[in-house]
Amino acid sequence: MAWRSSGSSNAALVNNLAANGLITDPRVKNAMLSVDRAHYSPALPYEDSPQRIGYSATISAPHMHASACESLLPFLKPGSKVLDIGSGSGYLTHVLAELVKPGGTVIGVDHIQPLVDLAARNMAKSKEGRELLESGTVKFIKADGRKGWPEGAPYDAIHVGAAAAEHHVALTDQLKAPGRLFVPVEEGWMQHIYVIDKKEDGSLERKKLYGVQYVPLTDAPES
Ligand code: SAH
Repeated sequence: MAWRSSGSSNAALVNNLAANGLITDPRVKNAMLSVDRAHYSPALPYEDSPQRIGYSATISAPHMHASACESLLPFLKPGSKVLDIGSGSGYLTHVLAELVKPGGTVIGVDHIQPLVDLAARNMAKSKEGRELLESGTVKFIKADGRKGWPEGAPYDAIHVGAAAAEHHVALTDQLKAPGRLFVPVEEGWMQHIYVIDKKEDGSLERKKLYGVQYVPLTDAPES
């Protein structure tokens, strides 16, 4: 499934993802067309596969980013507030920002300072990215994402880009009602994507989607 969508340009990659049914919504397609993955992936940016970005982190495969955006889409509207935990390269943070413009904000959190700096540098490679940073639409912050980012809460949508060892209550606590969390969770030697909705009455509804392989959500390495 993955490599079949690879292309020779950003547009070819995104069009192939759509042709293969991995992007179904035109808003997600347009957002991914507007962000050049070459600004974020140090190698083979137009392949539908994860790539190393240093510090044991990877930029996830484009089909995973597409799936995360499609899952969160009902909560990604102009003006929405979004938290992107484990922002790594900053690619998804940028795509999410395109989906909440104008008036929305996306906070990218990573616990490795050089990756926080890398994400901001990657975003500054394009005029659109520089505008997102200068307007405060996007902020990259160093923090332990397992605790969320209470300063910016509550959020319409929270994306977690690393596999959590448990269902961290801090994350659902920081969702609006209604709001949605997309999170890979470790279960034994497997990981599954969970989509957790906070309903208007504050109750939680968990849906288990498909199996995945993500970098774990961990303690920060000794520096
Ligand atoms: N969405 C990113 C994924 C990067 S890989 C991208 O596609 O580029 C997962 C990221 O989670 C890494 O950057 C890693 O540093 C970060 N991470 C792991 N544990 C974390 C924690 N406790 N708090 C914040 N970030 C964490």
